[in-house]
Amino acid sequence: MKGKVVIALGGNALQDKDMVPTAESQLNTVRKTASYIADIIKEGYSVIVTHGNGPQVGNIVIQNETASNIIPAMPFDVCGAESQGMIGYMIQQCLGEVFKEKNIQKDVATIVTQVVVDKDDAAFSHPTKPIGPFYSKEDAELLEKEKGYQMVEDSGRGYRRVVASPEPKEIVELNTIKLLERNGVVVITAGGGGIPVVRENGSLKGVAAVIDKDLASEKLAEDLDADILLILTAVEKAYINYKKPDEKPLDVISSYDIEKYLNEGHFAEGSMMPKVKAAIRFARSRKGRRAIITSLEKAHDALSGNTGTVVVDD
Ligand code: ADP
Ligand code: MG
Repeated sequence: MKGKVVIALGGNALQDKDMVPTAESQLNTVRKTASYIADIIKEGYSVIVTHGNGPQVGNIVIQNETASNIIPAMPFDVCGAESQGMIGYMIQQCLGEVFKEKNIQKDVATIVTQVVVDKDDAAFSHPTKPIGPFYSKEDAELLEKEKGYQMVEDSGRGYRRVVASPEPKEIVELNTIKLLERNGVVVITAGGGGIPVVRENGSLKGVAAVIDKDLASEKLAEDLDADILLILTAVEKAYINYKKPDEKPLDVISSYDIEKYLNEGHFAEGSMMPKVKAAIRFARSRKGRRAIITSLEKAHDALSGNTGTVVVDD
């Protein structure tokens, strides 16, 4: 075995943002993604797959809200679970297909994954993550009153619900994931950063929150004792001075140097910033670990050391 890799799939690996999100168009995108993952497995890496769910869970919420006069709308944590099932199903089926084509003898399983957050996490006092549909001012005020939602105006497009983005503390299904992984099963887990749950008098309770999927993937990678955290997104590398005339891609970089750039504000909040934070954490968690930020298309090359932003310990 070449090493254990946690692959965190970004939005563009699941859905082409210019296409109507039919099941068919999403499956077409996931099929391509599965082929890239299969090549990494064929190369001899042991792979665990995680993924985002932003657009998908947003659409599930809209479906629930729109039909709520016929069928009660499911709360946000349940919508998150639905999105894990839906996306997991697509990845699982497509991986199965490409494994057959490429003669890879492996089983695939999706684990509906809960991730414990701290109910006193400071994030709960200032929710930042917008979710679901846009509302008018009047409807937004009604939702605040009736359901206790926190609503914010979203860049002139209307009002949206915002939820907290707390830190991932513990992956509830970790033992199951380990059992499968040790037995050679390709596991799809921690989708959308996991379903956030809090511990209350010894039981778990789902909460309306969004755990950043890159930070959850980092936690998983540490817990599984992975060698590489491979964060796949729409860009081949992270940049400083991104989209400015003097932009510069980052190649191999120490966690300390990239942290300096992070503190200088080079990585946009909610997009590149959590990836860089996750990369720093992972690189520092144990000697010899590295985190790679690159695109799906370049993933294989980046693992061979030929491209990507590679964050190393010192
Ligand atoms: P995901 O792939 O997980 O869905 P996002 O789309 O949220 O991730 O974030 C990745 C995007 O962040 C890139 O496609 C790019 O447009 C943007 N980005 C912001 N700042 C930077 C930066 N400094 N370097 C590279 N990309 C950046
Ligand atoms: Mg995205």
